[in-house]
Amino acid sequence: MDTWLGSNPLRVQFPSLYLITTNKKALVSECYRKINSGRLWDWKWERIPNSESELRELNDLYSLLQLQRISCSKDVWYWHNFEQQDLSTKVVRQALNRNIDLNDPATDFVWNRWTTNKSLMFVWRAMEGKIQTAAALRNRGLNIPDTSCKICGAAEETAEHVLIQCNFAKRIWDKIANWIGIPMINLEGSIKDLFQELFGLQRSKKVRKAIHAIAIQTMWALWKNRNGKVFSNKHGPVQLITEEIKEASYKSLKARSKYTSITCQEWWDFNVVW
Ligand SMILES: [Zn+2]
Repeated sequence: MDTWLGSNPLRVQFPSLYLITTNKKALVSECYRKINSGRLWDWKWERIPNSESELRELNDLYSLLQLQRISCSKDVWYWHNFEQQDLSTKVVRQALNRNIDLNDPATDFVWNRWTTNKSLMFVWRAMEGKIQTAAALRNRGLNIPDTSCKICGAAEETAEHVLIQCNFAKRIWDKIANWIGIPMINLEGSIKDLFQELFGLQRSKKVRKAIHAIAIQTMWALWKNRNGKVFSNKHGPVQLITEEIKEASYKSLKARSKYTSITCQEWWDFNVVW
């Protein structure tokens, strides 16, 4: 059952033999008898292995076992390729470090504490292609007869389309750009491209962080709007959604940043000097 010899458990390496062993949970030590200085393998089969695959597996198993020194010491767990050390978090970390650079962020996603975890997690998943758009569900093998955008009907419903490229999304982004006083954003690329553009704005670091939080809030609002359309056939007017984005981003900024004294009016005018 355990990975003892080779990179998989013996039952995976020798499936035909595993089927005919009487004791599926037998330890290796229960499968041989010591005779003088050697050992005699003593398997318990339901019947003698006789098929081509069983005989081949038996032959391979003996070859593998011959290469292994079997000691009488107590069994221990260790991390693969770290046989000399006891299992510890340090060893696991070293093992992982061989394969991945732990200092490298898993994605290009930038965290932002000024917005809600729900909206952050949503955008992160969207960038990873993991939100349940019609196109994503179809790609996962679901039978989706119509994968077009339920809001405009003009293109396939992908994360990029719903959150950026849909005509409805573009109208929202236009309002947002207008509100925060930036030139119209390029909405033809990916979510990552959009963030890149926002990070490149000639504003102070804090203002860019606020804009980033607003962008995350905007995508979350666009997704909620899309769900409203898909599940209840309702979707909001542009003006109303824009106001909701202003309000939600104001609330989370007040609750989560140190700029607690910012007034509603200052935020609505985007009159922020940090
Ligand atoms: Zn659309």
